[in-house]
Amino acid sequence: MERKLERILRRVQKPARYTGGEYGETIKDKSAVDIRYAFCFPDTYEVGMSNLGVRILYAALNATEGVWCERAYTPWPDMEAEMRREGLALYALESGDPLNVFDFLGFSLQYEMSYTNVLTMLDLAGIPLLARDRGPEDPIVMCGGPCTYNAEPVADFFDIMSIGEGEEALPELMRLYRKMGGRSADKRAFLRAAATELKGFYVPSLYRYDYDGPRTAAIERGEGVPARVTKRIVEDLDTAIYPTTYPVPSTEVIHDRAVIELFRGCIRGCRFCQAGHTYRPIREKSPQVLARQAVEQLQFSGCEELAMTSLSTSDYSGLRPLCDELLAYCGERKINLSVPSLRADSFSTELSERISGVRKSSITFAPEAGSQRLRDVINKNITEEELLSACGQMFSHGWSSVKLYFMLGLPTETDDDIRAIAALADSVVHTWRQTAKNKMKGLRVTVSTSLFIPKPFTPFQWEPMCSMEELQRKVSVLREAITAKAVVYHYHDPKTSFLEGVFARGDRRLAPVILEAWRNGCRLDAWDEHFKYDVWMRAFDTCGIDPRDYLRARDLDELLPWSVIDCGVTEAYLKRSLADAHEGKITPDCRAAAGRCSGCGASRLLNGGKCDV
Ligand code: SF4
Repeated sequence: MERKLERILRRVQKPARYTGGEYGETIKDKSAVDIRYAFCFPDTYEVGMSNLGVRILYAALNATEGVWCERAYTPWPDMEAEMRREGLALYALESGDPLNVFDFLGFSLQYEMSYTNVLTMLDLAGIPLLARDRGPEDPIVMCGGPCTYNAEPVADFFDIMSIGEGEEALPELMRLYRKMGGRSADKRAFLRAAATELKGFYVPSLYRYDYDGPRTAAIERGEGVPARVTKRIVEDLDTAIYPTTYPVPSTEVIHDRAVIELFRGCIRGCRFCQAGHTYRPIREKSPQVLARQAVEQLQFSGCEELAMTSLSTSDYSGLRPLCDELLAYCGERKINLSVPSLRADSFSTELSERISGVRKSSITFAPEAGSQRLRDVINKNITEEELLSACGQMFSHGWSSVKLYFMLGLPTETDDDIRAIAALADSVVHTWRQTAKNKMKGLRVTVSTSLFIPKPFTPFQWEPMCSMEELQRKVSVLREAITAKAVVYHYHDPKTSFLEGVFARGDRRLAPVILEAWRNGCRLDAWDEHFKYDVWMRAFDTCGIDPRDYLRARDLDELLPWSVIDCGVTEAYLKRSLADAHEGKITPDCRAAAGRCSGCGASRLLNGGKCDV
């Protein structure tokens, strides 16, 4: 294998993607472990190595006695072609062993456009693509991650899915596997035991779906199989495992930085946002633990950047003292502190100012909709005054570039709402004229739009998604409305959004389409240079499926393909929030005033029954 690999690596781009051997990787004695787990990231090394979830689960599994967790990523097409030519099976980076000798392959499904990469990896490992074709010798193929809240389109490819947070659930699964005989366990019995004895595991083969036209007509399950699989959460983030040592990438990756996770969940309840609902309930980590984890990581990795992540970082209740401490530490050592997802409020702008020092790159805000009416519909609780005041503050401190993110195709959107995006950008320009202290630099306002995709477990899960033709028209309306020279307009390719929309609310009938598209060459679909829209459309055609059927509105009493999954937030709450959306009523955030919990239902997953708000 080594000689073959050496030969191949001379002929492919970025060979460091395929060599492993990074500082901080976990190496164990094969003879001292009885369970081997290959953590498979269905995208490139650069993307996977930047993912915090992978880092956490790699640490959690390797901290489990008798388990060795290794890593594998999707090869770039040049490497895939070379591997096929040389007959080299996909291998784990740590040991170099082919994936088919492992007990488990665990895929992290972060986005729908990574589905064909799962097939590439299974096929390169010589593992049958469909779960029903695998035998007792094959590894158990599992997945987790955000897409598993509705992974029905790929259900046929997986033996088992981990729903929710995995750092406690996966070690439990490993212990059950060992108890049932490990490699010699009866696989079907093990999967059934995982679904019935453990919490948070969904075994697709134990459920049968019947369809009636575009609808799901019935979901049947075997005896003793749970009607709903409730996601797992980690109750106490302070004591949960968190990696302060990890494989440090040996080549350039998307984000090469130390990361601290401030809290899980979101207090906001934006009605289009899936993560804002599925990551609930709200649990905060204490500033002391965060500061310690930050310092340990920086000392271990030598990184020059520390990121404070969470869904809406500025909602962390201890942000000010934490920033004071970290800015002092990082400032002395010339380490950049980065804070994604800040809001347009005064503390956030003050913080941006302190973090950036003299280096004023652009500031980013995501009003998501141009008019106040539509922002109320989507529950994006930010007003034009707040946005302009934040911009004014930044301009007065020397910033001269603003990025504004919006969505097109939101429920109830009219052309006036779209034109309001241009008007808002004009107001930003006007604010700059009034507040900028140095106008010589000029101003650049970048307006970016993406297409709204209705996602499961959001109040808009029942809403229709707009067609590509309609989106093109909306883009033209906005393009015509933007006249200011300082405003630049970018929009996201609707073709990938269209497919994401199909798969996000898709069902099991889409698996043959994914297989067909993959067989005809679809690879790395999230990468513009590889995305083959025409091949996808032909695959739908061959399988006799009209993808537009999946964009339709769902009836409120309709059985949804993801009904088996319980993400914590209740359907009753989602329906209430949807009704409020159509009346233009906002749902206050969970901290708006004492006791303002809106009863989304997620806190019932906590032992104390109360969020950290
Ligand atoms: S249970 Fe209440 S406080 Fe917790 S996330 Fe839901 S609405 Fe917010």
